[in-house]
Amino acid sequence: MEFLRPATWEDALAAKAAHPGALPIQGGTDVMVEINFDARRPEALLDLTRVGELAAWDEDGGTLRVGAGVPYARLIRELGDRLPGLAQASRTVGSPQIRNRGTVGGNLGAASPAGDAHPPLLAGGAVIEVESAARGVRPVPAEEFYLGVKRSALEPDELIRAFRVRPASGPQYFSKVGTRNAMVIAVCSFAVALHPDERRVGTGFGSAAATPRRAREAEEFAAAGLDWDGRGPLRESAARAFGELVARAAAPIDDVRGTADYRRHALAVMARRTLTWAWNDHRAGIEGREAS
Ligand SMILES: Cc1cc2nc3c(=O)[nH]c(=O)nc-3n(C[C@H](O)[C@H](O)[C@H](O)COP(=O)(O)OP(=O)(O)OC[C@H]3O[C@@H](n4cnc5c(N)ncnc54)[C@H](O)[C@@H]3O)c2cc1C
Repeated sequence: MEFLRPATWEDALAAKAAHPGALPIQGGTDVMVEINFDARRPEALLDLTRVGELAAWDEDGGTLRVGAGVPYARLIRELGDRLPGLAQASRTVGSPQIRNRGTVGGNLGAASPAGDAHPPLLAGGAVIEVESAARGVRPVPAEEFYLGVKRSALEPDELIRAFRVRPASGPQYFSKVGTRNAMVIAVCSFAVALHPDERRVGTGFGSAAATPRRAREAEEFAAAGLDWDGRGPLRESAARAFGELVARAAAPIDDVRGTADYRRHALAVMARRTLTWAWNDHRAGIEGREAS
C-alpha cells in the first residue's frame, strides 16, 4: 500500500487529484479499524497529519472556521464556550485516547448516521468546506452533506478542509442514548441549538434515519411557540409536541442496537428534555453555556 505524506494543503489536494483512490487518514480511528479488520484495502493512504492548517481554527467576522483535523479533545478545551453543543457531543466520543486522535473531519469523512458530531453541526447550521485542486473550494451546508449511509457529498478528488459555524448565540444541548456512558455507538442522538437573535431553533438527530437529519417541522413549531420577548416558561404540552414532531421526522430501523419504536420514543424524550433545558437556560440568561 502506497503511503502519501503531503506537508502542505496544496500538495494534499494535488496528491488526491493524482490518486483519487487514495484514502485520506487524519486521526485514523475509523480508517485503522477498517484496515486492521481487512474491511478495506485502499491502493494508497493519504496522511493529512502533517498539513498544519487542518489542525488550526480561527474566528473571523463572527464565524468560526475549524480545521478538519482539530481533534475532539481540543474542541472541548478550546471551543467549549463557543460551540457548547459540539463540545458536549465531543465529550461522548469514545475514550480519551479516541478524543485525542479523532476529528470532526474524520467523522464527516466517515459520514456514519451514528457519528456524534453531525447533530450539533446540523443544529448549529454549519457549512462544510470541501476542496479539490481542479475546482477549488465548495461550501456545502451540513444538511446537504449527508447523502446516505456512510455516503456524503464529497467527490473522489475532494478533501474536507474545515467547517464554518457561528459561535452559539444561545443555549445548546446534545443528548445521546447508548448502553453505557463511554465507548459506545449512539442508539440515537439529538442536538438542539437556540438562536435567539434570529428567533430560530436548530435541531439535528443521529442514528434514526439513513443519514443525520434536521427535524424542520419541529424547529418551526418551537420557534413559533416560544415566548422570545417575554421569556415566559415553556409549556409542557409544547415541549411534548416538539418531541413528537422530532420523532415523526425520523425514519429509524430495527437493528442490534435498538428497535425503530424505541428510537422514536427515545428521540421524543431527548428532544423534549433538551428543549426544556435550553429554554430554561435562556430564561435565566445563561447563553451558550457548556453544560456537562
Ligand atoms: C474505540 C472507538 C470508539 C469510537 N467512539 C465513537 C463515538 O462515540 N462517536 C463517534 O461519532 N465516533 C466514534 N468512533 C469513530 C471515530 O473515532 C470517529 O468517527 C472520528 O471522528 C474519526 O476521526 P478520525 O480523524 O480518526 O478519522 P479517520 O479514521 O482518519 O478518517 C475517517 C474517514 O474520514 C475520511 N477523512 C478523514 N479526514 C478527511 C479529510 N480531511 N477529507 C476527506 N476525508 C477525510 C477518511 O478517509 C475516512 O473515510 C469510535 C472509534 C473507535 C475506534
